[in-house]
Amino acid sequence: MSLTIVDLQACADATAEYLRKITTHPKAVRVPSVRITTACRGFARSTYLTIPSWALARTEDYAIYYVVHEVTHYFTGPGHGLAFKHLEQNALAQWDLFPVYSRVYPRTLKNGAGDVVYHKTNENIRP
Ligand SMILES: [Zn+2]
Repeated sequence: MSLTIVDLQACADATAEYLRKITTHPKAVRVPSVRITTACRGFARSTYLTIPSWALARTEDYAIYYVVHEVTHYFTGPGHGLAFKHLEQNALAQWDLFPVYSRVYPRTLKNGAGDVVYHKTNENIRP
């Protein structure tokens, strides 16, 4: 049911390709490879990005959101300001995902039809 590393890599590649078209940031040149980690959070390292296993255990849409979030960091740097959110929202729309933000991270993800495909609950205490 959950996405494979091949799926996640394809998501990262397609997202990087899309962001490369709409930005001129020099970091846009590098395509990260995806690794799954048991660490509690993901990172956008210089040559690879990590996705925590708990994020994969949620929904496929949430896993895609997480990959898109990390890939977006390659184009904007480490912060989560307006430029980051603008690019992240553009990239998520390519996957038919529309975030409702609670500060940095979305508390809800909707699809283009307006259906809620992910909602943060009290059981899901991680971002
Ligand atoms: Zn981030």
